[in-house]
Amino acid sequence: MTGASPRAVARVDLDAVRANTGRLSEAAAGRPLMAVVKADGYGHGLVPCARAALAGGAAWLGVANLDEAVALREAGIEAPILGWIAVPGDPIWVEAVGRGVDVSASAIWAVGEAVAAARATGRPARLHLKVDTGLGRAGAPAADWPDLVRHAVAAQASGEVEVVGVWSHLAYADEPGHPTVTAQILAFKEAAEVAASLGVRDPIRHLANSAATLAAPEAHFDLVRPGIALYGLSPGPLVGTPESLGLRPAMTLEARLTSVKRVPAGHGVSYAHAYTTTSETTLGLVPLGYADGIGRAAGNAGPVLAAGRVRRIAGRVCMDQFVLDLGDDPAEVGDPVVLFGPGGGGEPTAEDWAQAMGTIGYEVVTRIGPRVPREYVGGQP
Ligand SMILES: *Cc1c(COP(=O)(O)O)cnc(C)c1O
Repeated sequence: MTGASPRAVARVDLDAVRANTGRLSEAAAGRPLMAVVKADGYGHGLVPCARAALAGGAAWLGVANLDEAVALREAGIEAPILGWIAVPGDPIWVEAVGRGVDVSASAIWAVGEAVAAARATGRPARLHLKVDTGLGRAGAPAADWPDLVRHAVAAQASGEVEVVGVWSHLAYADEPGHPTVTAQILAFKEAAEVAASLGVRDPIRHLANSAATLAAPEAHFDLVRPGIALYGLSPGPLVGTPESLGLRPAMTLEARLTSVKRVPAGHGVSYAHAYTTTSETTLGLVPLGYADGIGRAAGNAGPVLAAGRVRRIAGRVCMDQFVLDLGDDPAEVGDPVVLFGPGGGGEPTAEDWAQAMGTIGYEVVTRIGPRVPREYVGGQP
């Protein structure tokens, strides 16, 4: 790292995102792939990751909130986009439909929003009907499904919507072989048959997240919808490690020491002295804290590569900073430290951080806050 580097940086390897997209397409045996880039590309950057995934062969983009879809269109991205979260009466329906974003309906009111947006924009709304096959989150319950389909088919007959997809989401795909996966696949097939019997013609049927893309081929249907694996993280330890799955973690989180000082034995460190030095030692100060997504749960736990080896954070994580006990190893103010990365240089991984903070890799990368600049390497010129 050069002297010109900032306080901290999340370096994102766009070639890794592109390669991971290719790896997932391969796992999906060439089916079209919807790259899920919600939540700012899981913290990696919405537009750069969308472009890298498209360059890697993704045919579609998926986001949660409709404003994320509009942001992709504003960046000039013309690929098909599905966005699935919006509330009644939000003007974002009109904006999204007007920009040719596909929207989702789990209930009749959402078909109404799609129809209203179509009338406002003079452009039919492209609709994916969502069925709850067992996750218990979004999606119409089986009992409400026929009614939802009938409403959508009626709106299609009047030219206001096009029903282009039927979809659902899995509860337990990160536990390969879990009986709910088979049960959900069966429920999904039945829902698709009901839709066909009520007049939905050749919808794109999609169910598989990263875990199912990698580990449940019977869930692939017409399109797969991975997120976390695009960024090179495993959806869960039972599915595999990034290495065993052929994935390359894309994000490296680095910072530079803002203070290096010798202190005597018995020195309390950070708030409430949750750590005390056991001998004369060097303390290094790292300018990242819980405001940057380094959870307070990482106090005395989060692993960091600094001054030649991996150490646990000393004491509490503060809003903007935390401390490392560097022992007698040589260190200077401005020296780089690595919180996590692909792991090839001896640095911890996002999965190591997930374990230290009692969470999952998804949350580790997604929570890296907007104060940390993203720096891109690789990708298209
Ligand atoms: C987030 C999300 C995905 C992607 O899930 P991963 O586990 O990150 O692959 C797919 N579909 C829906 C509905 C989601 O919310």
